[in-house]
Amino acid sequence: MIDIGILGATGMVGQQFVALLSGHPWFRVRWLGASQRSEGKAYRDATAWRLPAPLDDAVARMPVDAATPGRAPQLVFSGLDSSVAGEIEGAFAEAGHTIVSNARNYRMDATVPLLIPEINADHLALLTAQAAARGWKGRIITNPNCSTVVLSMALAPLRQFGLQTVMITTLQAVSGAGYPGVASWDILGNVIPFIDGEEEKIESETKKILGCVGDKRVDPHPVTISAQTTRVPVHDGHTESISVGFEHRADAAAVIEALRTFKGRPQDLDLPSAPKPPIEYLAERNRPQPALDANRGRGMTVTVGRLRPCPVLDYKFIALGHNTIRGAAGAAILNAELMHREGLL
Ligand code: NAP
Repeated sequence: MIDIGILGATGMVGQQFVALLSGHPWFRVRWLGASQRSEGKAYRDATAWRLPAPLDDAVARMPVDAATPGRAPQLVFSGLDSSVAGEIEGAFAEAGHTIVSNARNYRMDATVPLLIPEINADHLALLTAQAAARGWKGRIITNPNCSTVVLSMALAPLRQFGLQTVMITTLQAVSGAGYPGVASWDILGNVIPFIDGEEEKIESETKKILGCVGDKRVDPHPVTISAQTTRVPVHDGHTESISVGFEHRADAAAVIEALRTFKGRPQDLDLPSAPKPPIEYLAERNRPQPALDANRGRGMTVTVGRLRPCPVLDYKFIALGHNTIRGAAGAAILNAELMHREGLL
């Protein structure tokens, strides 16, 4: 068993880490870190547990530590608020920790892998350049923004058709805003057509993820992406309405087949958190839906449906993924599993 720590353990993503790591075959939670508000309290008193999975008793009794390097194990998952993640994660990496982060701060750094193991496991090669550029004893690996994961998973199998243009509108769950997140007065019976910074993240991160890794950086994929994002009164699961334009003609059956047969390193290596299949195509005309489909593959499967011709681009479809599992804690755990199997931990 490998001992691990969790930074930001008391937040929405931190709780998902605790839940998903309970009974994990390789990783064992040994350390929890959060802000001064939580420091010194037992975990069960520092956080308001909001997940249906029961809180592991041993973790519930663990004290929450300050978010400073020193007592944490070598491998640390991070669900830190982005207002503090840059400084704290950098300090941990400098002190020799491997940080597997959810926060946005280092995602677009040229030498930091922005990983979705099914798509770009080879981007781990950036770690050599990171060590040279940063001089850290440790390193930082990131997973994408929660909407970007869903979009990138749906687009990766379509690269073979010469992916040129993407239009996307998201319908994002409330849990994506953390806790307490959006005020009930603002979200109940409403749609909020603005999520700060989200559209820019989708447009830039997706191109890095789908890009080709070179010696010291990633050459971004040339696809042009236009994103609009909205917050809707849904608990969990980001739904995305996507249109795609291709360079080559493709019939609908070939596009669906590409989605259905897509797989990558996690499935080849049979990693513990790898969903099988990573993308599920649903033929029903009213799916996917967050209430019914977000938890497929223990929250790690991305669901796609309603593929049909688009009068503006080539095809349009709906994609869905669980934002705090596939879009956050589950994604980071899959990244660490990949690193372990690749001999990088
Ligand atoms: P959250 O519920 O607000 O939790 C934030 C965490 O950061 C808490 O543990 C909090 O500890 C800690 N924190 C805040 N200020 C701190 C400080 N000064 N020093 C140390 N720790 C501090 O947020 P979340 O939704 O879990 O998101 C966490 C990160 O994951 C963010 O960077 C977010 O952008 C990213 N992310 C979230 C999602 C999602 O679906 N929610 C998806 C992908 C990525 P206290 O409890 O002690 O304040």
